[in-house]
Amino acid sequence: MAQGGINAALGNAGEDSVASHIANTLKSAKNIASLDAIKHLCENAPDAIAWLDSIGVCFSRTKDSKIAQRALGGASSPRACYAQDYTGLKILHTLYDRCLEQGIEIIHETFLLDIHTHENTVMGVSALDIRSGETKTYEAASVILATGGYSRVYNKHSTNSTASTGDGIASALRAGASLSDMEFVQFHPTGLKHSSILISESARGAGGYLVNSKGERFIDELLPRDTVARAIDAQIKSGENVFLDIRHLDEEFINRELPQERKLAKLYENVDPVSDLVPIKPVAHYTMGGIDVDAKAMTSVRGLFATGECANHSVHGANRLGGNSLLELIVFGKLAGENAAEFSKNVSSSQAQYGSEKSQRASSHALLGNSEIDFYKIREELGDLFYSQVGIIREASQLADALVKVESHIANLPQMGVKDTSKVYNTNKIEFLEFKNILELSRLILLSALSRNESRGAHFRSDKPDTDASFDKHTVIDKDGVVS
Ligand SMILES: Cc1cc2nc3c(=O)[nH]c(=O)nc-3n(C[C@H](O)[C@H](O)[C@H](O)COP(=O)(O)OP(=O)(O)OC[C@H]3O[C@@H](n4cnc5c(N)ncnc54)[C@H](O)[C@@H]3O)c2cc1C
Repeated sequence: MAQGGINAALGNAGEDSVASHIANTLKSAKNIASLDAIKHLCENAPDAIAWLDSIGVCFSRTKDSKIAQRALGGASSPRACYAQDYTGLKILHTLYDRCLEQGIEIIHETFLLDIHTHENTVMGVSALDIRSGETKTYEAASVILATGGYSRVYNKHSTNSTASTGDGIASALRAGASLSDMEFVQFHPTGLKHSSILISESARGAGGYLVNSKGERFIDELLPRDTVARAIDAQIKSGENVFLDIRHLDEEFINRELPQERKLAKLYENVDPVSDLVPIKPVAHYTMGGIDVDAKAMTSVRGLFATGECANHSVHGANRLGGNSLLELIVFGKLAGENAAEFSKNVSSSQAQYGSEKSQRASSHALLGNSEIDFYKIREELGDLFYSQVGIIREASQLADALVKVESHIANLPQMGVKDTSKVYNTNKIEFLEFKNILELSRLILLSALSRNESRGAHFRSDKPDTDASFDKHTVIDKDGVVS
């Protein structure tokens, strides 16, 4: 789905340096990222782009055939390399092709259930074969989780795929891994008003304006996302509608550089950005928190690695910069792959002990049963609750109220369940599994948000509007769910 681009200080569209990339990322992270991790991200960015280019990602080009770069919020220079506004898709397709070429086995339609461990060391995973309904186990000397974020806790108020339900994060916690910074959820300023579909920051990067019902601009459009989202939220709460305005950009430019944005606005909002204002609102977009990993991308469970949005590599801190997530996938994905391979080499064949552990985990998802309470209804209510009370502006009593509601849903879980008893392609079952993960993560987001008694980046507490230096640290959730 990623449209805007992937960052690297190539300097193809203006003066830039790795030092500026580091400085911008550090500033946006607001003191809770690791300088070493940020340096690793930014210093490896030019090589990451060169590698993607070499394996066939069709980046857009300048007139002199250099990789084109565009401006995104919080960046001191146009730094995002892009492929029109289909950057993520082009990267994904290319990687997929290269995997096929290498004969890498890809097991589709398989849903991760649990991670198996023995003495805090990974042994493999159990997964549901969606096509047959059977639970299968996969033994492994090391495992890498790359299961994405948890923005779908906000249900329809999110730009994300419906699969972003934090399954890998919840499974990692069940397996004994620590999580961190779960309270930090980034709201993207420009989701389409009625569908939450993203209109990329590249539209503002290209010179698009944000205007209210009176046609007034009210914020510097290229400030970091947390600041812009709060400014839009304030306008909406004061009764204004807010619009993205790119009518002053040339139609030919829009068709060439932003073709997907035009299509999405037409399809989902019934407006043509060439001639119309585009109604927008901020929606949940990216989750900075996730599975806590060390400098080798390993979790607190030995041999269990995590990367991408499900992990917290300590580079985004309180607020991710646009274009840094795709970069994180490539740079830290490589690191996780290399370290997982290295770890596997040194594992003795202790898989024999695995049998009893495996069946114990596999049986923990006996899900059928009571469906007195409709979990779909609860999931929708939960999304609305999170959007209104755990969203852009938070406040202790509202968070506490939301926590009481979430805990009551958790207590009611025995009265919820799967109605559809069929085995093959049972989406009801998958959705219930996702719901259970969402519910658990909701509780942890709230506990983390309540424990962070201050405002910082994407976590804005109206009752504690200032940043407090005593919170210059990660919020960690240990394997027992204790927040510190
Ligand atoms: C609309 C949109 C636009 C964006 N634009 C940009 C951009 O321009 N630049 C940028 O840097 N970032 C952008 N981002 C952010 C970036 O795209 C994501 O952070 C990134 O793609 C996450 O990659 P990932 O591989 O970690 O997770 P994902 O891409 O979410 O992939 C996770 C995968 O795990 C699978 N999965 C989940 N649960 C299970 C389970 N239980 N069993 C089996 N499989 C499972 C999912 O189906 C999915 O295939 C954008 C995000 C969105 C939503």
